[in-house]
Amino acid sequence: MSIQHLNEDKRDALLEAAREVAGRAYAPYSNFFVGAALLTEDGTVYRGCNVENASFGLTNCAERTAIFAAVAGLGADQLSIRAIAVATAHGQPAAPCGACRQVIFEFNPDAQVFFFGDNGMVSTTARELLPYGFRL
Ligand SMILES: [Zn+2]
Repeated sequence: MSIQHLNEDKRDALLEAAREVAGRAYAPYSNFFVGAALLTEDGTVYRGCNVENASFGLTNCAERTAIFAAVAGLGADQLSIRAIAVATAHGQPAAPCGACRQVIFEFNPDAQVFFFGDNGMVSTTARELLPYGFRL
């Protein structure tokens, strides 16, 4: 599958959507408010935020919240992630965790992934983030 890179305006709009939805995160334990905005191949944007729980292991990341919303909205058969952006409400760096990398990979190994690392904005792909990701 060839990668059609988003232009800068679309990339920036996706990052801004991620930053906005980070404000809805439920993060009373970490105070680390993360948002994700996912662009499907058909142009729809789904958003997600992290949702923590008093039983910490039940916490769900912003990326997976957005992906699960997209599955619920489109049906898994129709979902191919074109790009996903991750941002925090207060500008801290935040790369997708290992679990989220595998879940992004499931819905398109060539999905573009944007986030802020220690040295600024990172533009990469699910495959680059998870070289040995697997699909059944
Ligand atoms: Zn995660």
